[in-house]
Amino acid sequence: QAKAAGKNSFAFYSPAHDDNSIARLELESRLRCALELGELELHYQPKLDLRSGRITGMEALLRWPSPGLGMVSPEQFIPVAEETGLIVPLGKWALRQACRQNMAWLAQGLDGLTVAVNLSPRQFSDPDLLTDIVSILHETGLDGRRLELEITESAIMQDAEAGRRLLRSLKSLGVRIAIDDFGTGYSSLSTLKQFPIDTLKIDRSFIADLATDPEDRGLTEAILQMARTLKLHVVAEGVENRVQQAFLRERGCDELQGFLFSKPLPAAEFAAFVHDQRQPTAA
Ligand code: C2E
Ligand code: MG
Ligand code: MG
Ligand code: MG
Repeated sequence: QAKAAGKNSFAFYSPAHDDNSIARLELESRLRCALELGELELHYQPKLDLRSGRITGMEALLRWPSPGLGMVSPEQFIPVAEETGLIVPLGKWALRQACRQNMAWLAQGLDGLTVAVNLSPRQFSDPDLLTDIVSILHETGLDGRRLELEITESAIMQDAEAGRRLLRSLKSLGVRIAIDDFGTGYSSLSTLKQFPIDTLKIDRSFIADLATDPEDRGLTEAILQMARTLKLHVVAEGVENRVQQAFLRERGCDELQGFLFSKPLPAAEFAAFVHDQRQPTAA
């Protein structure tokens, strides 16, 4: 009967009822339980180097297969977790799990991969973040250079001075910094260059209509041009077709991530995917 009640209350929670605080609290308490019960998972979406055709690493993405609610999308539960602060323990779990999984893969011979983990604004301003990352790297044994953190422009800009200090400390651990959903924020060239950033991830909304929309083509070209000037690595997210891939490759985009190459995969499937890709193909 809990299941039926859950379904109803969940149906009540939708983006259209975003202001419904009871439904949010309900979702939050279920999420808290899910974290405690170990119901959460990470899936891993591979990234492809556009020049070499090799897999460079993966992005870890939270998945919540809830027995009562079905598969709940991060688009639904991350904002709730962010608002209630639950994102802090949740994000810490994700970081540890992603690092652990990568050490397990390394032991199986999957080497040379970098794992990217998302950090929400609240996590980024958490005073314990740095010590948590230090202890997770220590505890799992993962080389800091194998970890990339994906942060949005607005998370860094909440407090630019504190942001810069934190990024510098993370860099000193070897950790790489990527700006996620790039192009949707307000950063100018001059603000960006004040931060020790390695990678720009071009937001999916610019990539979606690359084949048909001249404005999106122009903006994407401008981002690639700017990245070259600042010597930043560029990843395009949400690449779904060959036209987009060809456009990006011709204009010097470094890496691609998207359904064209692979959807986010459960850990075991990810390992199989990398093995398949690394098999020398019969010509
Ligand atoms: P994001 O970090 O920008 O992640 C990329 C999203 O695009 C993922 O959605 C991914 O599944 C989706 N995607 C990848 N390729 C394609 C494609 O070719 N086409 C389309 N239509 N979509 C594609 P997902 O997994 O639903 O995650 C949504 C957002 O939730 C993420 O956006 C991120 O902001 C947040 N999130 C996910 N996991 C975590 C986490 O562990 N911690 C934090 N703080 N946030 C997370
Ligand atoms: Mg991301
Ligand atoms: Mg993104
Ligand atoms: Mg996003």
